[in-house]
Amino acid sequence: MNKPLPMHLSPRCRATSKRTAKPCRAPAVTGWKVCRFHGARGGAPRGPANGAYSSGLHTKEAIAGRKHVAALIKSATKLTEAMGEGEPVAVSRVLMEDAL
Ligand SMILES: [Zn+2]
Repeated sequence: MNKPLPMHLSPRCRATSKRTAKPCRAPAVTGWKVCRFHGARGGAPRGPANGAYSSGLHTKEAIAGRKHVAALIKSATKLTEAMGEGEPVAVSRVLMEDAL
């Protein structure tokens, strides 16, 4: 059998055909796991390059940051309440819950 050409050794598309339920087998686009037919380079640009971007208030990073700050405030509030009870056991219980 002939030696495979470099193009045959390139990474293959990971998509599966809807009709045959077999792997696509087309070469994957560089930097992607799928071929050009199965969504490589697809989708709208992210961040300021997207036309719907206004202030960054609703980006994944901003939402995750707000959730993190809310969790910190919640745990700090719980700890403050436990310290107000004056029970060292309550304080250590809150600290253990937050560590988990
Ligand atoms: Zn494909």
